[in-house]
Amino acid sequence: TEAISQPHRPDPVPAPLKGERDLFTKFDPLIQQRRELLESGLADPFAMVMEKVLSPVTAICNGRETILLGTYNYMGMTFDPDVIAAGKTALEDFGSGTTGSRVLNGTYAVHRDVEEALREFYGMDHAMVFSTGYQANLGIISTIAGKGDYIVLDIDSHASIWDGCALGQAEVVPFKHNDIEAMEKRLKRIPAEAGKLVILEGVYSMLGDVAPLQEMVKVAKANGAMVLVDEAHSMGFIGPNGRGVAEDVGVIDDVDFIVGTFSKSVGTVGGFCVSNHPKFDIMRLVCRPYVFTASLPPSVVATAATSIRKLMHAADKRAHLWANSRRLHAGLQELGFQLGTKTPQSAIIAVLMPDLERGAAMWNALLREGLYVNLARPPATPANVTLLRCSLCAEHTQEQVSDILEMFEKAGKAVGII
Ligand code: PMP
Repeated sequence: TEAISQPHRPDPVPAPLKGERDLFTKFDPLIQQRRELLESGLADPFAMVMEKVLSPVTAICNGRETILLGTYNYMGMTFDPDVIAAGKTALEDFGSGTTGSRVLNGTYAVHRDVEEALREFYGMDHAMVFSTGYQANLGIISTIAGKGDYIVLDIDSHASIWDGCALGQAEVVPFKHNDIEAMEKRLKRIPAEAGKLVILEGVYSMLGDVAPLQEMVKVAKANGAMVLVDEAHSMGFIGPNGRGVAEDVGVIDDVDFIVGTFSKSVGTVGGFCVSNHPKFDIMRLVCRPYVFTASLPPSVVATAATSIRKLMHAADKRAHLWANSRRLHAGLQELGFQLGTKTPQSAIIAVLMPDLERGAAMWNALLREGLYVNLARPPATPANVTLLRCSLCAEHTQEQVSDILEMFEKAGKAVGII
């Protein structure tokens, strides 16, 4: 009947029942903090809209051309003509979406092809593609480490890693960021017979610093642990073939699982795990965040496959990106800004702000100058720090890096940070 088929719609503003708890009360401090920030006349750093995107490094924001220094488009692949052509062809050949899971109707030839591209890129036996990098961590971690197993991980790990740990219900043992000794101590306390997984990141995205993977992977292996490295922010850029930090420091063969994403250097969306583990393929049947969600649209995986194969031969772009990173790091340091790392270690350069208010003011001043960076704040950042995260692209020209430095100087002086 009508009454049964209609979903129940509560009154727009339901009258509170006696003793009823509003589940949103816990957000009140954050709502208040946001209100105060916006009432001070600043633009909302978390509601920026790009009205038009002109290239990997420029967009129209608030009606003006803006240099983008806060994207993950490290290798500038989003406007690559071959990548765009591959997407268009797949859109026409396969339609706009798969409407199904990878294990049912959602595996097309292009999904298989992007996994082949990943195997070629990493020189590994197995590759499994997820709908996002977040889901790749969620799925792989929760499926391989369950009740009774132990996960030893860096305290500054990405949210998707923490959420994967929580979903799998393994014992979680964090250690101080990048501290090899602390990691070893934790590992030695775990019962010898227990299953152990060490989770590390190649580049940590908030400060742009790199993990001491050579030592850490050695310690993990010596203590009988499997190792998963999230190379989200290093893929395409770091290492002789762009395979990441593990390749750069020569331990990639000792890493059991590399997790990555298509949403950064690859320039689209999607996540993956590659591995040489002989039983890896069983993951396709038991990994819930892989099975119980729709697969990526064919156009997305086709662009990813083309981009990944081009990244295999992108040594010149890698060299230019390193040059950009060094110049920006040195320039900002010379201007007197406090940075997240003493030397440039990745394409991310974090500029530390004294507090959220001045961080937001600086973010606004830069935007008015025509520069977009990321404003990052706790809880996403370590040690309660507010920072402006600059991420460089291989498509930024030398002139743009000079312009960026000038904008930082002007804004920094106006806000009183330098
Ligand atoms: N791992 C790390 C280290 C990340 O920084 C991110 C995204 N910022 C992810 C995983 C998730 O990637 P995706 O955007 O594909 O969900």
